[in-house]
Amino acid sequence: MNLSLYLIFEFCPMEEKKFRNYEAVDVSAAVKEHYRKMRKNQTVDYVNRMHNKYLNFDKPMPLFEAMAHLNDLIDVSDPDLDLPNVQHLIQSAEAIRAEGRPDWMQLIGLIHDLGKVMFLWGSDEDGTSQDEQWGTVGDVFVVGCALPDSCVYPEFNTTNPDMRDERYNTTTGIYKEGCGLDNLNLAWGHDEYLYRVLNNHAENKLPEEAMVMIRYHSFYPWHSGGSYSELLNEKDQEYLKIIKDFNKYDLYTKSQKIYDLEDVRDYYQPIAEKYLGSGPIYW
Ligand code: FE
Ligand code: FE
Repeated sequence: MNLSLYLIFEFCPMEEKKFRNYEAVDVSAAVKEHYRKMRKNQTVDYVNRMHNKYLNFDKPMPLFEAMAHLNDLIDVSDPDLDLPNVQHLIQSAEAIRAEGRPDWMQLIGLIHDLGKVMFLWGSDEDGTSQDEQWGTVGDVFVVGCALPDSCVYPEFNTTNPDMRDERYNTTTGIYKEGCGLDNLNLAWGHDEYLYRVLNNHAENKLPEEAMVMIRYHSFYPWHSGGSYSELLNEKDQEYLKIIKDFNKYDLYTKSQKIYDLEDVRDYYQPIAEKYLGSGPIYW
């Protein structure tokens, strides 16, 4: 995206309404249904079970093979895009590249949603398949404390069984005040999955900001809703700046422009190898 376009998006609230408008009449019922299931099923117990189930790092797959698999996945939670997810990744990366941002950030644009490959070994009952995506995509929230009204479709908050459990339904819940983002358990999905996979990857040379962008980009009730202030620490102020910077490329670059992954691969592969090595990633 060029600078003038970016300025329009940054400062024109009318334009912002074009994205993430969950009230629009043409937002499919599937988006709302996705959030209904997500809010009801993402509990402390569920998140613990998903960590045990999916964080094994025993499935080797090269980065660009994982990218190609996202040709088969359309994110049902996204009211703004009905293209295969790999198109969103390339659109984000190309916008970051067009503004001359650092190479590692361009790479994050390209890979930030790669955790969605979980659908390859996911299941309907976990919400991690192609048909049931409530354990893979969508805005995430903290499990183990009260759900804030800043969640999209807050009317579903009371359906979460943890909100009837007094260990989990208070403002701080199971957490210590001011413990910081890195000590919270978020709803299970593609952010946390890719973060953990790359954290486990011995050849990972990505800067800390890059890992923050991967881990927290879907945490809208915090980064856009302003919730959870009781749980945050000083470091999280820096995290917020990092996420706000990345988020404009994740959100405002969505368009109907179609790319071919093979056409952009020559440019991005050397950057990927610089930061992640040339061997497979263990998913
Ligand atoms: Fe994402
Ligand atoms: Fe994204």
